[in-house]
Amino acid sequence: MGILGGYTHKLTGLGTLVEKVLLPVDFSHYIPYIRDMCSCSTYKKGQPWADASAQAAKGEFRMKTSQAWSLVGGLSKPSKMPGFGYGLSALDCKTGSKLRKIAGSICSACYALKGRYVFPNVLAAHKRRLKSLQHTLWIDSMVHLINSRKSKFFRWHDSGDVQDLEHLKKIVKVCERTPSVSHWMPTREVGILKEYKKTGALPANLVVRVSATMVNGMPHKFHEHSSTVITSKDLASCHLCPAPEQGNNCGDCRACWSSSVLDVSYMAH
Ligand code: SF4
Repeated sequence: MGILGGYTHKLTGLGTLVEKVLLPVDFSHYIPYIRDMCSCSTYKKGQPWADASAQAAKGEFRMKTSQAWSLVGGLSKPSKMPGFGYGLSALDCKTGSKLRKIAGSICSACYALKGRYVFPNVLAAHKRRLKSLQHTLWIDSMVHLINSRKSKFFRWHDSGDVQDLEHLKKIVKVCERTPSVSHWMPTREVGILKEYKKTGALPANLVVRVSATMVNGMPHKFHEHSSTVITSKDLASCHLCPAPEQGNNCGDCRACWSSSVLDVSYMAH
C-alpha cells in the first residue's frame, strides 16, 4: 500500500508537470483527462470526499485545488479562447441527442462526438464528471477552481449541455460566487432555461446563448442572446465570429461573453 500510495502521488505530480510544461504547446485539451487519469486512484471510490462532505457540514473543511479538480473531473483549456472551460459528454445532451438524428441540424455534425472526445478514457472521465454534478461540494469545487485559474473569462460546456433545472441553478450559483469572471454558456435546452426564468433572472456576469436549431436557421426568439451557424457570411444577423480569419483564435474578440452582442454567428465547418 505504501509503495502503491507513493506511486499514485508520483502520477498525480506527473499530471501537474504535464500541465506546466505542455500548456504552451496547445496540448491543453488533454490535461483534464490526463489529470483525471493520474489522480483518480488518489481519491478512489469517493471516500475522501465522503469525509470532506462531513467536514464541510461542520465548517471544518478547507478545499485543496487538487481535491476540487478531482471532484469535478477538471477544467478544459479551449485552445482558441481566453480562459478555461468545462465540458460534459455530448452523448448526454438531452435535446442534442434528438437533433443529432436530423440532417441539417446544428447537432448533426457535432464536433464533440469525434476524435479525442470519444477516446475511451475521455468517455470514462465524462461519466465521472456527470456523476459529480450530484455531489454536495460540486458548486464549492467549481468556484474554487475558477478562482484558482485567475482568468476573467469562463466557458461552460465546450462540449455537452445543461442537464436539468437543478444543474442550471448550480451553474448560476457558481457564476454568482465568481463575480469578477465573465461566463458564457451556449445551450440547446430552451425548456430548462424557460423554467429557470420563471424563478429569477440570470446573473449579470452570465451570458446564456440559445443555439439555433438548424444550420442557416434564424436566431432563437425566446431568449435575448443567441448563436447561429451559417454557411455564408451574408447570413450573419449581428456579429460574425472572426476566429477563422485570425488563426482560429479569439484574439481580442470577446463577443460571446458580451451581453450587448445579441447574436453570434459561426461559420459552419
Ligand atoms: S465570436 Fe469572438 S469570442 Fe466568440 S468564439 Fe468567435 S472570436 Fe471567440
